[in-house]
Amino acid sequence: MKITFKRIVSLILCVAMLFSVCSAGSFAAENESIITVSCEEDLKNIDENIPIVFITGLEGEFYKGLSTETEEDYVRIWGPETGVILKTVFKYALPLTFRLLIKDYDGINKISAEVANSLFGDFACDENGVPNPDTGKKDTSDYDYNYGFGYSKSYNFVYDWRLDMLTIAAQLDEYINYVMELTSTDKVALVAMSMGTAVLSTYLYEYYYTAEDYAERNHIAAAVFVAGAFNGVATCEDSFSGNMSFDSTSLMRMMSEVMKGTGSEGIYKVLEVLYCFGMLDPVVNYANNLVKDIFANGFNDAACDSIATIPGFYALMSSERYEETREYIFDTPEKKAKFAKIIEVSDYYHNNVQANSAKVIQSMLDDGINTAIIAEYGLTIVPITSDNDRMSDGTIATDRESFGATCAEVDGTLGDGYKQAKVCACGKSHISADNQIDASTCAFPDITWFGKYLRHTCGEEFVGDLVDLIVYSDEQTTVWTYAEYPQYLVNLDGEKIVPLTADNAGEVIPYEETTAIKKFF
Ligand SMILES: [Zn+2]
Repeated sequence: MKITFKRIVSLILCVAMLFSVCSAGSFAAENESIITVSCEEDLKNIDENIPIVFITGLEGEFYKGLSTETEEDYVRIWGPETGVILKTVFKYALPLTFRLLIKDYDGINKISAEVANSLFGDFACDENGVPNPDTGKKDTSDYDYNYGFGYSKSYNFVYDWRLDMLTIAAQLDEYINYVMELTSTDKVALVAMSMGTAVLSTYLYEYYYTAEDYAERNHIAAAVFVAGAFNGVATCEDSFSGNMSFDSTSLMRMMSEVMKGTGSEGIYKVLEVLYCFGMLDPVVNYANNLVKDIFANGFNDAACDSIATIPGFYALMSSERYEETREYIFDTPEKKAKFAKIIEVSDYYHNNVQANSAKVIQSMLDDGINTAIIAEYGLTIVPITSDNDRMSDGTIATDRESFGATCAEVDGTLGDGYKQAKVCACGKSHISADNQIDASTCAFPDITWFGKYLRHTCGEEFVGDLVDLIVYSDEQTTVWTYAEYPQYLVNLDGEKIVPLTADNAGEVIPYEETTAIKKFF
């Protein structure tokens, strides 16, 4: 009897112990914060054996006078010289205000076209989307020796972003061949930032995904997309399609973000008081009505002589907004015929490249090509879009950069009772510690990182080590690989990123509740 009792007790103890071990195990698997592997050793031992080609974003100054002999001939045409801007303002401000007051839309359109021509005329392309050959960038990608490997020694691919994506991708291919020859390698890693991700998507579609000779060439080791424009940029697509809107709250929220610590706090405080008493609303409403009127009364005609001739802009749109823009800008059979080439290359980008970009990434993962997406968040988008509350990195919306993350509004959360939208194959939590992002709805949740308060940057101090760990690893690095680089990271000091945790996430406070008047009452 006694022996039976002891056996029963020990059996119960065994079961209890087994149960506790199992449940601790499953708890660890479910808890995202438990990643015990440090990247320190791997970083030290990285075998940097291939060059990184970095594809820049929409940047750089453009000049005219490139085909002439001396430096003095260079005249900056993008961004426009301050003198040119001032001259344009002085010349057109008064007549434009007068036409606006009397609602003379023909006059407004004529002046708008002249303003656009004065500011961007030299920068525009012809009706086939080809820039004037005497215009372009001064800086070129002229490395002429083996500069080295790793993110800090990337070979920058600098390009004329006015061109269509297919033309730029062909130039990138030439550049990649040049870099491989220079470094005596037969592989390359491709890292792209912002607009560069549209170029990279096009390159991968043309020279990897649909390339019949790829198996033979086999030259791509890794692809990393940082703060990507590849799924469209609201500030561009909305300002071409007439879906712009202004509102005082997002305008003030953006000001509060960018004016912090710049010495302009005094100006901000004045604006805040005006905002709290509703005195900015009439100005904002006026601007909304004005833009609506201008778009309804011939902005498309004015744009056709300048900015609408630049194919690069059409690659910075979602396919839906691109189609809307195309029908708005090229609204007559005559215009469709005249600008047929621009429409053709833009249609191609949207129907082939953008439509297949997720499939291309999946194919790379299947082929063992290291791939990663780094999205950024926590900041107000430039508030000229159809939804200025959307989460962004200040320039591009986070759901677009991340291929479909579920995002709270920029100063809101997903809500107290929020449950992860999808069960991921990894079985772990994809919700951020600040409850602002759910990555489970991303196309690739386990290879998509998020950096909070990174203002549309690809700075080496922030993403350099992570990119090197991804590029030079023998196997695919995921958001579950390293303790230092979990899915969610935050820039707290402007110098580095650290894991975002419940402890450092801070409280998310809607902008209105942070204003002086609100606090006072
Ligand atoms: Zn997962």
